[in-house]
Amino acid sequence: MSANKASFESKDGIAVIQFDNPPVNSLGLELRQAIVDGIERANADPSIHAIVLIGAGAGFSGGADIGEFGSSKASTQPHLITVISTVEASAKPVIAAISGVCMGGGLELALGCHYRIAAAGAKIALPEVKLGLLPGAGGTQRLPRLIGAEAALNMIVSGATVPAEKLRGTPLFDAFVEGDLLDSAIALARRVIAEKRGPRRVRDLQVNMPNHEAFFQFARNSAKAVAGRYPAPLACVDAVAAAFDRPFDAGVKRERELFTTLMLSPESAALRHVFKAERAASHILDVPSGTPARPVRQVGIIGAGTMGGGISMSFINAGIPVVLLEMSQEALDKGLATIRRNYGGALKKGSLTEAALEQRLGLITPTLDYARFKDVDLVIEAVFESMEVKRQVFQKLDQVVRQGAILASNTSALNLDEIANFTKRPESVIGLHFFSPANVMRLLEIVRGAKTANDVLATAMQLAKKTGKVAVISGVCEGFIGNRMVARYGAAAHDLIMAGALPEQVDKALEDFGMAMGPFRMGDLAGLDIGSAARKRRAEESPDKDWSNVADDLCQAGRLGQKTGAGFYRYEAGSRTAIPDPAVTLIIEKYRKQKGITARKISNVEIVERCIYALINEGARIVEDGIAQRSSDIDVVYLNGYGFPVWRGGPMFYADQVGLSEVARSLRQIAAQPQADKSFWTPAPLLARLAQEGKQLSEYKGSEK
Ligand code: NAD
Repeated sequence: MSANKASFESKDGIAVIQFDNPPVNSLGLELRQAIVDGIERANADPSIHAIVLIGAGAGFSGGADIGEFGSSKASTQPHLITVISTVEASAKPVIAAISGVCMGGGLELALGCHYRIAAAGAKIALPEVKLGLLPGAGGTQRLPRLIGAEAALNMIVSGATVPAEKLRGTPLFDAFVEGDLLDSAIALARRVIAEKRGPRRVRDLQVNMPNHEAFFQFARNSAKAVAGRYPAPLACVDAVAAAFDRPFDAGVKRERELFTTLMLSPESAALRHVFKAERAASHILDVPSGTPARPVRQVGIIGAGTMGGGISMSFINAGIPVVLLEMSQEALDKGLATIRRNYGGALKKGSLTEAALEQRLGLITPTLDYARFKDVDLVIEAVFESMEVKRQVFQKLDQVVRQGAILASNTSALNLDEIANFTKRPESVIGLHFFSPANVMRLLEIVRGAKTANDVLATAMQLAKKTGKVAVISGVCEGFIGNRMVARYGAAAHDLIMAGALPEQVDKALEDFGMAMGPFRMGDLAGLDIGSAARKRRAEESPDKDWSNVADDLCQAGRLGQKTGAGFYRYEAGSRTAIPDPAVTLIIEKYRKQKGITARKISNVEIVERCIYALINEGARIVEDGIAQRSSDIDVVYLNGYGFPVWRGGPMFYADQVGLSEVARSLRQIAAQPQADKSFWTPAPLLARLAQEGKQLSEYKGSEK
C-alpha cells in the first residue's frame, strides 16, 4: 500500500483500512492513493463483504494536507473528490469509524461512506471558511441531506467544531459507541451484511424544505452582515442552497464553481498564507526540533503593573502557578485588585464562574520577598523600563534563582544582551516581549540574545503554545521586529502631516486600507509622552540629528493623549471617540512654519503608499539582517500585534502581491524628492535585489541557508 500511509487487513470478510499519517491523518497524496487502492482491492476480493475506514492515533482525519497546498501533489490524482466518489461508488458497504478529529476533507470523506459510527469524544467540523474557502469535496451537498439546512449551514458558515454527540439522532450517525470503536464498526458491518442493507449513498437522499428560498435569502442577509470583506460565508450559503434547488450532481458542480472562485480570491490567499505563517513561526531554524524543553512548573513575575498583571493572567489562565513580586505591599495589592477587576467582563458574560475565578487567583502567590523565587523555573521581569532598574533586578535574580531556571525580560526597547550580561548565566536569559493587554494579545516576540541557549528558546516556544500565544523569534535590535517597524511607519505618518495632511486624513486613509487604527489615534491611546521621553533620550545620545516631533509640542501643551482628554484629537469625558481639533491644526501649522515647510495637498493613495511602504522597507531590512527568521514571521507580528488587516495577509505578503518591483519603484520615487530622507526611502538592498530578480520576499531563505 502507498508509502504505508494506510494498512489493509481482512477480518473475517470485513476489510479494515486504517489511516496512519500522523499527527492527524491528513489526506495527503499517499493516503488518498492508499484509500483508493484499498477500496478497489476490497471490491475485487470475493472474500470481502464490507469495508471499514478508521484512523490510527489522533482520530479519523483532520482533513487536507495544508503542506501540499500550492504543490504539484495537491493537484495530482487521486484528488479528494475522486477518493470520495470511489468510496461512495463502492459496491460493498463502507463504514466510517470516527473518533477524535473528523474535520474538513476528513468529514467529507466520512460523508461519502455509506454508514458512520462515532466514538465518544469525536469532534466534527467543516472549517474551510476560516481559510476563505468552502468545503469543496461535496460537503455542502451531503451534510444538509443528513442534518438539514439550518444545522449544516451553521456548521459550514461558522467553521465551528461540533461534538459528534450533538448530532445524535440525525442520520449523520448510525451508532455511537462507548467501547472499542473498531470492534463496534465491524459488528455494524456484519449487521449491514446480514440484513442485506447494501451501500446507502447520501447523494441519493432527498432534501425537502418548504420555503427554502426565503430561508436562504435570510441566511444570505445574515452572512453578509458578518462577513465584512470576506466572500466565503456568502458563497457557503449559495453552495448549501444549491443542495435544495437542484439535483445532487448539479449541486456538486455549483459547489465546485464557488470553491474555485474562492480559491482564486485574494482574501483566501491571505488567510491561507497566515495559517501557514503562524505554523512556520514556531519553527526555530537552527534549533533541532527534538530539543528538549526545560520543565516550567512555576513562574515568577516581577512587577504587578500593566504588563506584569496581564502576563500573570496569561499563565494562570493556562493553569501555571505564578509567584508575583512587587516593591511594596501597596503596589502588590493594587496589581492584584486590577487582575481581579480584569476578570469582571468574563464573570459578567458567564464565560467564567466565581469558583473558577477564585481557583485561578489561588494560583498566584503574592510576595515582596525574592526568596520566594527559589523554586521557580522561569522569572519574567516587567519592571520600569530603565537599564539601571533592570540591572538591579537581574543581579538579584542571579543570586536567588536556582541554576537552570530561565530569566526573562519583557523590555520593549532595552538591549537584551546587556541585560543578560548582568548575570553569570547569559545562556539562560531571554526576552519575552508581550503586548498590552498581555492577557488578551496573542503576539509574543521571543527575543534571542547572542548567548541564549537552544533549550531556553525551545522552552519559550513551548510555553507560548501552552498559554495560547503565537510566538515569533526576534534577534536583538532597537525595538525588535514590531516596534522597529512601527517607528518607521510613525515617522512616515509624521512626515505626511508635516507635508500638508492632517492626522484625521492620515488615520482615515490607513483605516480605509484596513488598519485597525490609524497611527495618530494609536499614539493617543498609548500616550504621547512615552515617545516624547524616548526622543529626548535619543537627542541626548545623538544631538546632531533633529529628533523633534509635533507630538512634543502637543505634550508641552498638556495633550498627552486619551488619558488627558486630548492629544492629536480631543475626547469628551469618558469617551474614546477621537474628535478632530482645530487647536491641533494650529499647532501643526506653527510647527511647519518653524521648519520652513510649505503645505501641499496630499492624496489618500500617497498616504497609504508612504506609510505601508515604509513598513515594508524596514521589514526587508529586518529579514536581511537576520533579526527575523523569515518574511512571514513579520506578517505574524504585524497581524497579531499591530492591527494589520488579516485579509491582506500582513505587510510582507502584501508587498509580494503588489509586486516588489512596483514597491521599489515607488520607494525610489519618494527618495528622489528634494526633502526626502534618502537613507529612509531608498529600497532596502534585499528588496531592490529581489525586485530586480523578479522574486518575492517569501522566496528569500536568507538565514535558512
Ligand atoms: P508599569 O509602570 O505599569 O509597571 C511596572 C511595575 O513594576 C510597577 O508596578 C512597579 O511598582 C514595579 N517595579 C518597578 N521596579 C521594581 C522592582 N525593582 N522590583 C519589583 N517591582 C518593581 O509598567 P509596564 O507598562 O507594565 O511596563 C513594564 C515593562 O514592560 C517595561 O520594561 C516596559 O517597557 C515593558 N512593556 C510595556 C508595554 C506596555 O504597553 N505597557 C508593552 C510591552 C513591554
